[in-house]
Amino acid sequence: MELDLTKCTGCCACANGCPVQAITMREDKDGFIYPYINSDSCIECGKCKRICDGRYKKYTDDFVARSFAVWSQDKDIRYESTSGGAFSEFAKEILSQGGVVAGAAYDEHNGVEHVIIDAADKLSVIRQSKYVQCNSKNIYKQIKDIVVQGKLTLFCGTPCQVAALRSYLDKEYENLIYMDFICLGVNSPKALKAWLTEVETEEKCRVNRVWFKYKKYGWHRSPLCTRLDLDNGKQKIYFDKDNKFMRGYIHYHLYIRPSCTHCAFKGLDHGTDVMLADFWGLQSADDNGTSLVIVNSKKGNQLFEKIKENLYSREEDFSRSVLGNPAFRESAILSKYSRDFLCSLDSMGFNKAYEKYARDPLAVRFKNIIKGCLKAGKRIFRK
Ligand SMILES: Cc1cc2nc3c(=O)[nH]c(=O)nc-3n(C[C@H](O)[C@H](O)[C@H](O)COP(=O)(O)OP(=O)(O)OC[C@H]3O[C@@H](n4cnc5c(N)ncnc54)[C@H](O)[C@@H]3O)c2cc1C
Repeated sequence: MELDLTKCTGCCACANGCPVQAITMREDKDGFIYPYINSDSCIECGKCKRICDGRYKKYTDDFVARSFAVWSQDKDIRYESTSGGAFSEFAKEILSQGGVVAGAAYDEHNGVEHVIIDAADKLSVIRQSKYVQCNSKNIYKQIKDIVVQGKLTLFCGTPCQVAALRSYLDKEYENLIYMDFICLGVNSPKALKAWLTEVETEEKCRVNRVWFKYKKYGWHRSPLCTRLDLDNGKQKIYFDKDNKFMRGYIHYHLYIRPSCTHCAFKGLDHGTDVMLADFWGLQSADDNGTSLVIVNSKKGNQLFEKIKENLYSREEDFSRSVLGNPAFRESAILSKYSRDFLCSLDSMGFNKAYEKYARDPLAVRFKNIIKGCLKAGKRIFRK
């Protein structure tokens, strides 16, 4: 059996679905996971390929997507969330009804994996965006075991992980809600670990918590701000200018997974009930973050109506609300230096490799040249 690895998003659904456990997910030298099929155990049943292809199924119903600018009325939840804390409000509602929530959590080595929680006091573990690929491990199997028992379940992951879960289950469950977010692309966990290793070496201390989009200095004002908590109680704050990891991601697209550059799960027809994102168009006085919530199905709408009293929310024009978020429709353009950067991490470490390879992707450079020419043209014309 062979799978098309060029399209592989590392979702793990094939490994979850294999009836004889012949598939293991292994990290390649760039730090991304891919399936490895043990040909001695493989029975050539083709289930892995069916699940893999099933991710591209398109879902449409008569519900017209609605979008809202939202933030949680709970100040702590909002502050500790990546945008406006919408995810936590949805999750709280599911948990209050005795349900479970699956989301991404850091492991003890600052890697990221899917976990399931069943109580509100564990919500902080899966709150916040972790800007690296989350290893879904055997989450789809676990979710199936739970949903077939009739338990209310909220799954939150990247759009490709939502498509993967849908394909793995291959059946509608009324008690399962799919949630994802507009996704620029997932980064190599190897890149994050290499950045953290340099901080740990410099500080002679372990980093025990990574907090992306730390809001103390303003969500709009300092959108890339990251806080690292060290074992010795010290906090390191990286602002937009000196935050190499976030700059390497957002400005240079240096370590995004190659499959994210031709993402097949853009838009809304991959079967999500609710999609979240940053809503940059609404600036609140406290600058503590605003979520964009796109409600995409009757099920999603019912859940949203239930949590509305815990939110500030304002309905927005759908097309306008996604306009400022190109990742809703477009895939990221990978830096042409990405492979060189990731290969150099072992020998050079993060900072040196960054100094050498952090350059604008070609398209951005080209755009800047055009902009420069237009400006120069205008100046000449005025004279
Ligand atoms: C890799 C990545 C890329 C993103 N790209 C964009 C973008 O281009 N534009 C945009 O507007 N928003 C993007 N987002 C979404 C944004 O960062 C916020 O997560 C979103 O606005 C919801 O915020 P919140 O405050 O409601 O919830 P939060 O508390 O921030 O909750 C986020 C939810 O996402 C889950 N999650 C976190 N990290 C991961 C991960 N690595 N893989 C899978 N699930 C994860 C958490 O478990 C939680 O369920 C991205 C998020 C990630 C993780």
